[in-house]
Amino acid sequence: MALRQRARQLDPGNGPRRSLQRKLAVATTVGGLCTVVLAALVIAASYGDFAAARQNLYDISAYRDVLDAANTLSAERGPANSVLGEPPSPHSAARERLQAFRARSDAALARLSAPPSAPFGLHSHHLPPLMVERVRERLARARAEIDELAARAPQQRDMDEIRHAIESMFEVVDALQPAIAWQVRELSVCDDGLAAPALTGKMLGDLREYAGRMASQIMAPVAARRPMPVQSLVDATRSRGRLLALWQLAGPAYNMFGAAPTLEQAYADAGHQFFGRGVAMVDSLVAQGRSSGNYSMTPTELTNRYVPTLEPLERLRSVFLDEVVAHFTSTRERALRRLAAACGTSALILAVLSYMLVFARRAVFLPLLRARAEVIALAEDRGQPHETPSFGAAMQARRKGQAAEMLRLFDAIDILRRKLRERAALTAQLEQQARTDSLTGLLNRRALELVAARYGAHEYASLVLIDVDRFKQINDRHGHAAGDHVLRNIAAQMHALVPAEGVLARFGGEEFALWLPHGRPGEAAALAETLRAAIAARPVCLSGTTQLAVTASFGVAVGHGGAGNWQRLFGAADAAMYRAKAAGRNCVREAQDLEGMPAR
Ligand code: GH3
Ligand code: MG
Ligand code: MG
Repeated sequence: MALRQRARQLDPGNGPRRSLQRKLAVATTVGGLCTVVLAALVIAASYGDFAAARQNLYDISAYRDVLDAANTLSAERGPANSVLGEPPSPHSAARERLQAFRARSDAALARLSAPPSAPFGLHSHHLPPLMVERVRERLARARAEIDELAARAPQQRDMDEIRHAIESMFEVVDALQPAIAWQVRELSVCDDGLAAPALTGKMLGDLREYAGRMASQIMAPVAARRPMPVQSLVDATRSRGRLLALWQLAGPAYNMFGAAPTLEQAYADAGHQFFGRGVAMVDSLVAQGRSSGNYSMTPTELTNRYVPTLEPLERLRSVFLDEVVAHFTSTRERALRRLAAACGTSALILAVLSYMLVFARRAVFLPLLRARAEVIALAEDRGQPHETPSFGAAMQARRKGQAAEMLRLFDAIDILRRKLRERAALTAQLEQQARTDSLTGLLNRRALELVAARYGAHEYASLVLIDVDRFKQINDRHGHAAGDHVLRNIAAQMHALVPAEGVLARFGGEEFALWLPHGRPGEAAALAETLRAAIAARPVCLSGTTQLAVTASFGVAVGHGGAGNWQRLFGAADAAMYRAKAAGRNCVREAQDLEGMPAR
């Protein structure tokens, strides 16, 4: 009883179950949201890195196009110088080379003014159109000047005019410098990591540019075969100084992204070929120009011998820019791999979390709730449905595929249920034994007294006491076992005749009692008479052919029921039964003088 109350306290409706489920749902949602936020932060950071690396690569590639354009414009000077040192000839090799270089310059400028549109997600830093336009104007002016001079016979070409024409080609490259500076600034604002490679790229381009200029600056007196004017001398010396300063700066910067063999080779070759042979060539021509104007080379020879010494400078510039692009390509690829790893790991974590939550719910939480319900049902003694075969099968099916720990729990509950059932059966058996007379199978005296006590005190009831006549003699003559047989026989005979509402009991020894839940005196006596006659009429068969006539004496009393009246009723019935004995036995006597007895 106490157990049941406790069980009910544990389970007020479905409260705890609902609150546990709600808590699990809230915890699941909060945990899931936190994981999603964390994953989103990590992915966003990785995507930011990737997008920046992609933009950097695009920017540095676009910047390279501008540097390449400057280089192309600067390279046009070589064939222009050659044409100025030759007699006019529209189909000469120098002229054709000039045309080819001019076509390359035009294409490079066209790319600068109309670059391909930026791929999705990237923004391009378009050069202000005016900057490119200014370069184009300068170029057209310089070309016109060169063509005009080249159309004249060599002796008609004034040295100052030649120098002016050559310098006008310098101005073209100078006109592109604002565009380069603009790009450097744009890149540095976008990502300060781009400033160093951008400036170094420009520096290596300048090396190539001033190396070319130095020869061009002495080209006019060489072409005119005149002594070197002071202006050319100053210009060439200034370019030489600038070149040496740039070369000193380039030393620690050119391999900022690693010492690739091709880069190292280009650097060594530039030092060797240009700063060795190229500079020496210009120095010796300057020396000749200062003394006599009697030069050891024609402009074409100077171009043909000097330009190859520029090749390692050009290679250094170009390989350096290749390395820069390769560096930013690998940065972008690393960022992409990190992004993929972040996405993959986040997805994996979310999948594992979801699986764990579903698993925890299915394999732990729900089975625990079910086990809890089963334990409460056991405590409340609601174990009946569990015992039907169909319920057992359903239970088994539900337990299939569950974790071993949970199966162990359900097995324990099954054992508990079985033990409770066994205990209940044992208790019922003991209770039955406590109520029953083992010889006859009838209720015993204690059980009958309990039946009578439950009866209302204001209601009438009848009690019939039955005592077997001279039973001691039966025992004495035929043995105790025969006596027992007689008792069983009489009990069975009477039991067959007692109406359903009557309660027959063995009262002790050879005495029986019949309780009738009504107060009709005549009726109780009539039933007693029927029983007496039946016993007397049917002798008990003992072993073989021995027949034993048995009789019994009956005392009947009718009065108020209930525990308080029991002794009085019993006394009256007992007295009546003794009167029957006294009257010669085998007869029925009724109590006459019982107080409150109903009228007949
Ligand atoms: P009366 O007619 O006056 O009742 O004589 P009686 O012999 O029946 O009465 P008595 O009280 O002298 O004897 C009862 C006997 O019943 C005594 C006892 O040995 C016997 N008896 C009591 N219980 C049992 C039992 O369970 N089995 C057997 N076989 N005999 C029993
Ligand atoms: Mg007796
Ligand atoms: Mg007797």
